Amino acid sequence: MPAQGSRSSTLRKTRAVRDAVNDYREKCKRDQPPCWLCGQAIDYETTDPYSPDSLQVDHMFPVSTHPDFAADQENMRPSHAGCNLSRGNSMTLPELGTTSCDWEALATT
Ligand SMILES: [Zn+2]
Repeated sequence: MPAQGSRSSTLRKTRAVRDAVNDYREKCKRDQPPCWLCGQAIDYETTDPYSPDSLQVDHMFPVSTHPDFAADQENMRPSHAGCNLSRGNSMTLPELGTTSCDWEALATT
């Protein structure tokens, strides 16, 4: 039955996601970007995985609602473990708060 095939493809996807997240995590450790949720510095030095200040790779579009973006690094953002936890799976997109309108561009042309 097709159930077995879909299960193995899910497994493959999961591994791809883990590899992409690990790769993104390494990039973050190198570039040390701040938390995209609160803008504060992330503690990249901590060895405590349960520290709320430690790095957690957040998915801008939650994996639960956008599984196709799960392994897409364009969808990944550096966040504090604590911030990511409090955000949960909500679709919080700070960028959408400030609409970039083109009134100025229209006025100058
Ligand atoms: Zn944060």
